[in-house]
Amino acid sequence: MSAVRRGAETIAPGVVRLIAPNPGPMTGPGTNSYVVGTGPCAIIDPGVNDDDHLDALVAAAPGEIVAVLVTHAHPDHTGGARRLAERLGVAVHAHATQLRGVRDKAFHADRFMADGDRVALGDITLEAIHTPGHAADHLCFLWRETGLLFAGDTVMADVTVVILPPDGGMTAYLESLTRLRALPIKQIAPGHGRMLDDALVVLAQIVEHRLAREAQVREALADSDDATTADAIAARLYPDLDPRLRGMAAAQVESHLLRLAELGQAQAAGDGWAPD
Ligand SMILES: [Zn+2]
Repeated sequence: MSAVRRGAETIAPGVVRLIAPNPGPMTGPGTNSYVVGTGPCAIIDPGVNDDDHLDALVAAAPGEIVAVLVTHAHPDHTGGARRLAERLGVAVHAHATQLRGVRDKAFHADRFMADGDRVALGDITLEAIHTPGHAADHLCFLWRETGLLFAGDTVMADVTVVILPPDGGMTAYLESLTRLRALPIKQIAPGHGRMLDDALVVLAQIVEHRLAREAQVREALADSDDATTADAIAARLYPDLDPRLRGMAAAQVESHLLRLAELGQAQAAGDGWAPD
């Protein structure tokens, strides 16, 4: 397991990673910003609005920056996007879906990218893959020729991706992962944390982990005499959790319960949930 270092780091030919200065319990070492290209370049997820970070991104580009690409409109990914794009006179590309919950309210795209849309950067072509789940507007960017996937928050290194309703959805997330598993992906450059080799193994493990968690939620539901709540199930499943992450853990359980309801295995009961 290679440690994540600060400063511009070439992680693959034509790809430089810089880590935004926003480490934390939800962001790991900080948001990964990527500079892609050997001639014309794109910046994926400029991260937070920080002068030094934006300057470093511009300095790391080996050629002219022609586009800013955004995986999803969470503030830790988009914070610097508008300022960087305006400074460079280029368009911000993102999916058209507007998030309803957590989002960067100051953010807007100049150009919408739908599933399958491409951005050409000299010899490199990045293809947008719509991957709702973490957020409804989520795009991954695939460089098919090398099998490198810029995964945003659809895959994170060493931590579980947050699926927060209403913009996040567990069923959509599992479907997106299934879809990615059918693509020619070899390596994953995540939105947070280190590069991941053996992409297909990683994707399979995430699906397995989610289905195991779903089974635990189903069990907890079956074990409770009356209706239970997402909070109570979260306390049972994550007993040693950092208190700062408790609300997030309950939201994760809630997203599993919503999926179980879709599957006809759970139902809302008063303020809580019961088996169906
Ligand atoms: Zn996010």
